Amino acid sequence: MSEPILKIRNIESFYGPIMAIRGVSLDVHEGRIVSILGANGAGKTTLMKTISGVMDPEKGQIIFDGREIQGQEPHRIVHSGIVHVPEGREVFPLLTVDDNLSLGAYTRNDTQGIEQDRELVFNYFPILKERRTQEAGTLSGGQQQMLAIGRGLMARPKIMLLDEPSLGLSPLLVQEIFEILRRLNKEQGMTMMLVEQNAAAALNLAHDGYVMEVGRIVMDGTAEALMKSEDIQNFYLGVQ
Ligand code: ATP
Repeated sequence: MSEPILKIRNIESFYGPIMAIRGVSLDVHEGRIVSILGANGAGKTTLMKTISGVMDPEKGQIIFDGREIQGQEPHRIVHSGIVHVPEGREVFPLLTVDDNLSLGAYTRNDTQGIEQDRELVFNYFPILKERRTQEAGTLSGGQQQMLAIGRGLMARPKIMLLDEPSLGLSPLLVQEIFEILRRLNKEQGMTMMLVEQNAAAALNLAHDGYVMEVGRIVMDGTAEALMKSEDIQNFYLGVQ
């Protein structure tokens, strides 16, 4: 396999004295979907924040597209092609759908490309086109999640980091949104890393997976292999 587009080596991240990430290493290859599974408090969100530059690691390297990026400002990291899609409730509620999308493109100045990408977002999420002049705060939870993903796409990223895209959504909506993520990966070649507590949905979507416990990676493999693992079935998929 080719060199990974994202290589994480021995990362350690702290909240004050609390070590939330305890020496994590992982690889994401271009065109793949990688899921990070783990219970509440395992460190998944902290790992995402460390990659996107919201937090600085104390130790370790994050190598993206051949360059070390750990410790860089978040806007530089977006510029290099990594976009963090927060959970849907973090869209700007008082701004319209259109303005939220425009803000996703804040690092770009290619007006024509931006408008093409807006159409691409509307193509994947037609409901956002219908609601484009509406304030984001008036959208349903599922639509806000779609907007968060759409806003991420507007940066034209090389990789999307998705934080719990299934959070608070009905099983039907999770299915709908994950299907769109699958299409974005297939049709646009979008590389994705997602953290999820919904292990079944995440492993169904992903090619590869890592399992985190208390700040460490305790298991990794192809999604197919992980789904067959007895530990994963017992602890994460609820199979008795
Ligand atoms: P969740 O799904 O609940 O967000 P997670 O796997 O994303 O869980 P993190 O939120 O990354 O886990 O938390 C990892 C550890 O860091 C936990 O022990 C948590 O209590 C701690 N932690 C998270 N945020 C802070 C903070 N702002 N200050 C101090 N400790 C924190």
